Amino acid sequence: MARIIAIDGPSGAGKSSVSRIVGERLGMLHVDSGALYRIYTWQALAKNVDTSSPAAVAAFAPAVEIECRPENGSIAYYVDGELPGNRIRTPEINAHASKVATVKEVRDAVTALLRSLVKFGDLVVEGRDITTAVFPDSPNRFYLTASAEARARRRQKEEVEKGIANQSEEDVKASLLARDRMDSTRKYAPLKKADGVIEIDSSDLTLEEVVQTVLEAVR
Ligand code: C5P
Repeated sequence: MARIIAIDGPSGAGKSSVSRIVGERLGMLHVDSGALYRIYTWQALAKNVDTSSPAAVAAFAPAVEIECRPENGSIAYYVDGELPGNRIRTPEINAHASKVATVKEVRDAVTALLRSLVKFGDLVVEGRDITTAVFPDSPNRFYLTASAEARARRRQKEEVEKGIANQSEEDVKASLLARDRMDSTRKYAPLKKADGVIEIDSSDLTLEEVVQTVLEAVR
């Protein structure tokens, strides 16, 4: 049976960087589940689907086809033979993704796709509902968090470095908090700290310190 390390937490807590490095060190594939919700959002916006209508998003969801391939230590997602890249990292996608992620049909499709990835081997999966809904039985479950200020600072820097956007830290913080609110209050699989998970607050820790904390706790 494939081994799973599950890491949940709010936006900008450092889940992607930590998961990628932990995966590299343990020879496990990194899986970014947020990218899947971003792909649904990107495709919906491209097809002029009204993302504030759950019925419209639910009707559109089966049209989205995502091909998964293990590449360079991560699962890469292809849509129509192309990698979405930074097209799914824009402020516009940020603003719509949490709405799309409230829709049960989208969540069910993403959950099924994530579970199917065990065919590729051991996985480090990060997201919002991995410890609670997708792989709740994993013995290695973590909740990674940080202060809103630390998260906004990191995200703003990342957006500028990657040439995605040039928003103020305040705007990034407002967008993060709006997403957190929607993610933790939605009906299906809300973001929450599950019983029995190991919580790590990364506000005052280096990336390497967080990685070491996870590695030491992994059974
Ligand atoms: O992690 P990332 O910021 O890329 O996720 C984008 C959005 O996808 C989140 O704001 C959240 O609404 C949704 N998401 C989710 N469940 C997951 C991962 C992401 O609902 N497991």
